[in-house]
Amino acid sequence: MAGLNETHDPNLQCWLAASAGSDFPIQNLPFGSFRRRGGSEAFRVGVAIGDQVLDVPALLAAGALDGEAAAAARLCGNATLNALMAAGPARQSALRLALSRGLREGSPQQSRFSACLIPQSLVELALPAQVGDFTDFYASIHHATRVGRLFRPDNPLMPNYQWLPVAYHGRSSSIRVSGGLAQRPRGQLKGPNDAVPRLALSERIDYELELGFHVGVPTQSGETVPVDEAESHLFGVSLLNDWSARDIQAWEYQPLGPFLAKNFATHVSPWVVTMEALEPYRAAWDRPADHPAPLAHLESAANRSRGAIDITIEAWIQTERMRAQGLPAERLSRSTFAHSYWTVAQMLTHHASNGCNLVAGDLLGTGTQSGPRLDEAGCLLELTEGGRTPVVLADGESRRFVDDGDTIIFRGYCEREGCVRIGLGECAATIVAAAA
Ligand code: MN
Repeated sequence: MAGLNETHDPNLQCWLAASAGSDFPIQNLPFGSFRRRGGSEAFRVGVAIGDQVLDVPALLAAGALDGEAAAAARLCGNATLNALMAAGPARQSALRLALSRGLREGSPQQSRFSACLIPQSLVELALPAQVGDFTDFYASIHHATRVGRLFRPDNPLMPNYQWLPVAYHGRSSSIRVSGGLAQRPRGQLKGPNDAVPRLALSERIDYELELGFHVGVPTQSGETVPVDEAESHLFGVSLLNDWSARDIQAWEYQPLGPFLAKNFATHVSPWVVTMEALEPYRAAWDRPADHPAPLAHLESAANRSRGAIDITIEAWIQTERMRAQGLPAERLSRSTFAHSYWTVAQMLTHHASNGCNLVAGDLLGTGTQSGPRLDEAGCLLELTEGGRTPVVLADGESRRFVDDGDTIIFRGYCEREGCVRIGLGECAATIVAAAA
């Protein structure tokens, strides 16, 4: 597993003054796919620094990179990060180091780097990866218990929950980048007192506050991954909104799990914060004393001491009325990925434990990441206790589920004493009425 290096030094300053205090200081350097808005340029890989994008292919063309860093930058001319993701931690790390050195105050490369900056306000961002397969886990026991209680009051947690990171295979075609829309879906709905189901618009649209980890170095079919090597197959993390139609879900989910309730839209934030950038925010992972230890292949000393990652995640809402009145978004909840019952290394190791091959660009959703307290719940189903207790907003509106015109915004960041705060940016999307 990687450790801290000079790119994490909290004393590093970028010559771009606006980067300090933003989500994207020099200690972060997340990757994304961008192009100048309103033109016909090809999408390519850039790095967020402050309110700018560093154009990596332009930097390469200007001769500002060499060696392994240049080799990594040669993979950045594509519209997606997949090739860079597959290149592995050593090459990715060399590029990060070269970018960090060029962006530092006093760098002799400042003028060459500065010529390759484009304001973020002038670019459009694409989905960072071509996602071949999307797997969504269910790794928060607080979410699983609260939701399980609503669906199955007598039996909230299945017996497998403490033994394996439960997941389902989702759909990649409907994964979109932040900033867009999701249309309210139709589906089969059947209330508890209905004799038969009906086809109608969902009345219970919910968001799910998740992280999405992007697979980097692929695995071969038949290959398993020791838990201590799992993270060498991960490139980084984005925010992920797994939109869910709770009424469709309640009727369709047994016995094979979610299907049409979940696959109409999934939104992802555009910037991928690398595993290396997350290094200062690692945390110990543990379980309640009366829970079983994981099986040996999902257990290790390193996973215990540093398997968790303290990423704060928040869900915000801005209704159509708030927007019309110029009111800012309002926070619905805040939690941290450090509460997760399973670490991302355990999720990946479990995923490959049967020999299933993972591919660069595959996306591993963590499942809704709720904390132990109700105000840490990562979806409205929990916050409103199944729609029974509406959330009342500051402007007097209330919500049981998401209304047409509501924008749901996720934010994520890492902060720790003695470290510089880094952010994941935003994942925002708006629910719109179905076409007639
Ligand atoms: Mn989910």
